[in-house]
Amino acid sequence: MFISVTDLELRKVQLVASFAPGLIDLEELGVAQKTPIEVRGVAELSGPLLDIRVHGHLSGSLEGSCGRCLETVPIAAEGEFDLLYRPAEAEPVADEKGITQADAEIGYYDGAGIELSDVVREQVLLWLPTHIVCREDCKGICPMCGINRNRESCGCQPPKFDERWAALKSLQSGE
Ligand SMILES: [Zn+2]
Ligand SMILES: [Zn+2]
Repeated sequence: MFISVTDLELRKVQLVASFAPGLIDLEELGVAQKTPIEVRGVAELSGPLLDIRVHGHLSGSLEGSCGRCLETVPIAAEGEFDLLYRPAEAEPVADEKGITQADAEIGYYDGAGIELSDVVREQVLLWLPTHIVCREDCKGICPMCGINRNRESCGCQPPKFDERWAALKSLQSGE
């Protein structure tokens, strides 16, 4: 769904959309979409610079993999969103009174408007944790034998500190 500035100049636009898995490129964010992402919201022009404000609610289920043990981790993409897109050609202004939503995120758009799918993608990105982990105390994978240390334990001994130190020393001296 394309949100066109020309339409917004006339009236607010109600947003009702459902994005089936695959319609929004989330792969490069490192997650897979498991259910349609449902969007309900409003797009309107806002402030003296005619920013496009898009706000509402979206919900969907994603899946990522734990950065330590590689197990699948469900991620809920659900909640209220409120994003602001400024025309790319707008001059930066010192007076930001036009922005009434103190915590709104500001993006930029070029041309005739924005794609709702890009808005959804940006919000999903904002919600994603920097590091996806299955649980805070995930023990990860044993670097030596590869077992998942949350489920099994192994007898592998980590390399001794002074062995690694010796390796570092020889690297530094170019041996
Ligand atoms: Zn894990
Ligand atoms: Zn091991």
